[in-house]
Order: sequence, then structure tokens, then C-alpha cells
Amino acid sequence: MARMTSTQTETHSPLALPDQVATHDVTNQPPPLAPYDSSADAALLEGLRREGAGWAEDEIRRLGVRAGSAEAQEWGEQANRYEPVLRTHDRYGNRVDEVDFHPSWHHLMRTAVEAGLAGSPWADERPGAHVARTAGGLVWGHTEAGHGCPTSMTYAAVPALRAQPELAKVYEPLLTSREYEHGLRVPTEKAGLIAGMGMTEKQGGSDVRTNTTTATPTGEPGVYTLRGHKWFTSAPMSDVFLVLAQAPGGLSCFLVPRVLPDGSRNTFRIQRLKDKLGNRSNASSEPEFDRTVAWLVGPEGRGVKTIIEMVNCTRLDCVMSTATLMRKTLVEAGHHARHRGAFGARLLEQPLMRNVLADLALESEAATTLTMRLAGAADRAVRGDAGERAFRRIATAVGKYWVTKRGPAFTAEALECLGGNGYVEDSGMPRHYREAPLLSIWEGSGNVNALDVLRALGREPGSADALFGELALARGADARLDAAVTALRTELPEADQLSARRLVERMALALQASLLVRHAPHPVADAFCATRLAGDWGHSFGTLPRGTDLDAILDRALPDHG
Ligand SMILES: Cc1cc2nc3c(=O)[nH]c(=O)nc-3n(C[C@H](O)[C@H](O)[C@H](O)COP(=O)(O)OP(=O)(O)OC[C@H]3O[C@@H](n4cnc5c(N)ncnc54)[C@H](O)[C@@H]3O)c2cc1C
Repeated sequence: MARMTSTQTETHSPLALPDQVATHDVTNQPPPLAPYDSSADAALLEGLRREGAGWAEDEIRRLGVRAGSAEAQEWGEQANRYEPVLRTHDRYGNRVDEVDFHPSWHHLMRTAVEAGLAGSPWADERPGAHVARTAGGLVWGHTEAGHGCPTSMTYAAVPALRAQPELAKVYEPLLTSREYEHGLRVPTEKAGLIAGMGMTEKQGGSDVRTNTTTATPTGEPGVYTLRGHKWFTSAPMSDVFLVLAQAPGGLSCFLVPRVLPDGSRNTFRIQRLKDKLGNRSNASSEPEFDRTVAWLVGPEGRGVKTIIEMVNCTRLDCVMSTATLMRKTLVEAGHHARHRGAFGARLLEQPLMRNVLADLALESEAATTLTMRLAGAADRAVRGDAGERAFRRIATAVGKYWVTKRGPAFTAEALECLGGNGYVEDSGMPRHYREAPLLSIWEGSGNVNALDVLRALGREPGSADALFGELALARGADARLDAAVTALRTELPEADQLSARRLVERMALALQASLLVRHAPHPVADAFCATRLAGDWGHSFGTLPRGTDLDAILDRALPDHG
């Protein structure tokens, strides 16, 4: 081997590099986004006031600042990096079936429960309480999405549990508590409870009629024992679960506590946790039941009818969570584009990047505005407004179908705005992207929601009237919208399974357009109608037509977070 000369040694030694060629100058990279205010979102705050929860604005703003803090953003990152771990047995071989979480998970959960994002609206008499919760979810969700699963199920369990008033009397005050108390103890001795749900089995998720888990009456009124399995049951460290099982009178709904009133563990064998694409902070388990004590909720044989009360609420949360992912990734993309230069200008000044960001902003505002309208309908429906109940019945399924369907494409496009950085975990964008498809799978996958709209049209004609009544509020304001509504009416009588997606997509776009026409600034509504209704658009984001007022759209959507 040739010997190195002294000159070569000096040239290649890192210690010998002259200052002017230092390798690690960092230039043209954006500063960290945090701290920022996730409630700095005009569409959200206007929706909050419009839907009757303006009284919550200060609280929502405080939560937005908290969500965007470096600390809370770090919790979101850590809760997903250090995933939950299943412990099936203790050191002596006894089954324990516990799941350990990183402390950041508990920080997120505690803040969410204290902020009223779990069951507390059901105990709040103020009109708009459910709207305030949805707005809280939209701002707090900027931290991370996984813990939104147990808070959503806790919220949603309350109306289903009311089908059994004596159980509701005991458990509702705990499910609506603003205290987070983790750990398996006697539920009635805790300050607050978390609830989960077990419907899906190996042989069928959408079609729960195929459930094989059995419920055998014990002889004591309302008390049964369960035997069987569930294929998906998220948040297995919850205190109580609503579970479907086959009783003598047919498929029925049950409340299953993890710890029995005498302090002993109810049988809840967690076989394993799912190794998931995303949603990694949240544990999703496969539990098995064997002589598991369960209390009947609602009549025997009416399990689906009972638990659908829960699903109505979690479906709205799927729309809300997707709108949150859209807003979060848009804010990240806008921040990057504001600070990153390429080809002699900041990305935010490059015309084509402005087109992409403005197009994403339209989609995000449409999703947020629809979310807030659905939350307002839910709030008024639970207070007895029949018209809003009919609107909620159809519009929640329409929104769940369409908004969650747009999530993966949206988050992919926003991720791309960060270039290579967006593909790297540090940016958080891969986490948001991986979360998006889940929201269109659980709580009724795309087809199932589209078919549910057909069911509403067929069995509850009042829901179609409510939807068209809502669309009529924007009549005459935009000719493209008027034409879309007329076309929709024409298609309605021919609605069948084959064309369900096509119909529901058109319903969703008309509904979003009508809300924007009524409530958003003209440039936003105009661009939405031109592209989503009149077809002056391509097949990817960033194809808004010439003449679109990009400045107005971007100024509204992307406040400068510094
Ligand atoms: C991360 C995660 C967590 C979950 N947590 C829970 C939980 O906590 N509790 C719980 O009970 N479940 C949970 N689930 C299960 C989830 O709700 C189901 O996966 C979902 O409802 C779909 O059911 P399935 O997987 O059995 O699919 P299937 O029902 O087999 O559906 C497969 C596909 O067929 C479509 N399809 C079904 N019926 C029709 C039809 N008639 N016509 C046309 N297409 C149809 C569906 O839209 C879907 O695309 C979770 C799932 C995931 C991924």
C-alpha cells in the first residue's frame, strides 16, 4: 500500500478543514413552527360562533396556544415514537392484560379530558356544548391523533348507555367527568372513566350480525356472561366497554367493566396488539372473553340500534379528525413555504406553489366548515330539534364518507410541499399521512357509509327533505350550486348501491359548497364552486383555474406564525 504523504494527511483530516469550508452551516431551512396557535383558523372560529358556542372562544383559544406549544407538540411526537407495550402476565405467570404507555400519552389524555374533549358536554346544559367540544378537538388534535380514539369513544358511549337508565345513573357522571385517572381499579371508585367499544370480530366488522360472541343470562336481572372474541378493540386500558354479543333474544349491547365492583378483574384476555400502519400511540387489541361479566344495555336483540347512538357520535369525530389533519398539515406546509427559498424566491411566492396551497386551503376550509355544521346539528338534535336530527342523520354519513375520503390525498400533497423533509419522520408529516386512511375505515368504511346514506333516504325520507332544505338556504347565490342541486334531485330517484358513492360525493360537494357560499368570503366560495361543482379543475391539487383570487384565499388560510 502506498504511504500517505504528510500533505495528504493534512488535507483529509477533518481537524484541518479551514473555517471557510465548514460543512454544517444550516441555511434555507425553516425555523421550528412551535410555538404557534392552532386556533388561529378563521373558518373554525367563525363556525364556533355561528353554531352557537361563541361563549367557548376564550377557552378554545387557550387550548390552541397549548396545542401549538413546543411541549405539547413533543408529547405528540413521543407518544407515537414510544409505542404502547402489552404485558399479558406478571412475573409469576398470572394474567394481567395491561398496556403500558409513555408518560406523554397520559399528558395528552389528561389535557384532553380536562379540556372537555371526552364525555363532559353531556353534563353541560349550555346550548353549543357539543359544538365547543368539536372545536376543541379541532385545535387540540394538532398535537396527535391517536388519543382522540379513547376520548371519542368515551364521549360517544354516553348516549348509548342512556338506553339503560340505571346503568347510566351510575356511570354517566364518571364518563362525563373532566378528571383523567388512568389504571385498572373499581370504576365507581375512580374520579373519571374512559370507555371503549367492541363490535368487530374476525369474521365480520361491517356486518356485525355475524358476531359469534355469546351472552348467557346468569339469572340475575340484566347480568350476563360473555364468551368469544373481538378482532379489534382499541384503547384496551379503558375502564368500561360497550360490546355486542348474541343473547338468547338476538344481538345485544352490553357494558363490560375491566374491574368488577368487588375489585376482582373481569376476564379480558388481550391476545395481542395490532401492528398498525399509523395511529401508533393508541393501542388496538384483540381481546377474548370467557365467563366475562356483562350488563345488558337496552333491550335484548336491539344491540345495533343501541350502539348506533355511539356510532353517530364517533362518525362526526372521524370528520373532525380528518379536518384537523388537513388543517395541521396545511399549516405545516404553509410555514415551510413561507421560509424556504428555491429558484430565487420563497416557495410561498412561487405561483405554482401558491396554487397548490390555495387549493389545499379550500379543501381544508370546506372540511372544517362542514364539521362545525355537523357539530351544530348534533348539538341541537340532542336537545330535541327534530329537523336537525333528520339533517344530522344523513349529513353525518355524507360528511364521513367524503371528508375522510379526501384525507389521504390531502395529507400526501401537503407532505410533498415540504419536499424531502416531508418524507422524514422528524417533520411529523409521515405520522399525519399514515393516520389519514384510518378515518375512512373505522366507524363504517367508505362503502358502508355510502350505503348508509341510501338507507337513510329509503327509510327516513325526512332526512332527504332536511338535506335539501339546507341546500335551499343557498339557492340563488351561485348558479353553479343551483345547477348541482337540480342535478342531484334528478339523480335521487335512481339511487342504488352501484351508484351510491357517486351520489354521496355529489351530495357532499353540494353541501360543502352551500355552506361556503353562505358563510365564507367570496373568493373561497367562488373557487370551490368553480372547481368542485363546475369541473374547472384537474385531478390533483394545485389546478385552480386562472383568475382565482389566490391572495385572498391564502391570506385567510395561512396566518404568519413567524
Ligand atoms: C386501527 C383500528 C382500530 C379499530 N378499533 C376498533 C374498535 O375499537 N372497536 C371495534 O369494534 N372495531 C374497531 N376497528 C374495526 C373497524 O371498525 C373495522 O375494521 C371496520 O368497521 C371494517 O370492518 P372489517 O375490517 O371487518 O371489514 P369488512 O366489513 O370485511 O369490509 C371490507 C370492505 O368491504 C366493504 N364493504 C362491506 N360491506 C359492503 C357492502 N355491502 N357493499 C360494498 N362494500 C362493502 C367495506 O367498506 C370495506 O371496504 C378498528 C379498526 C382499525 C383499523
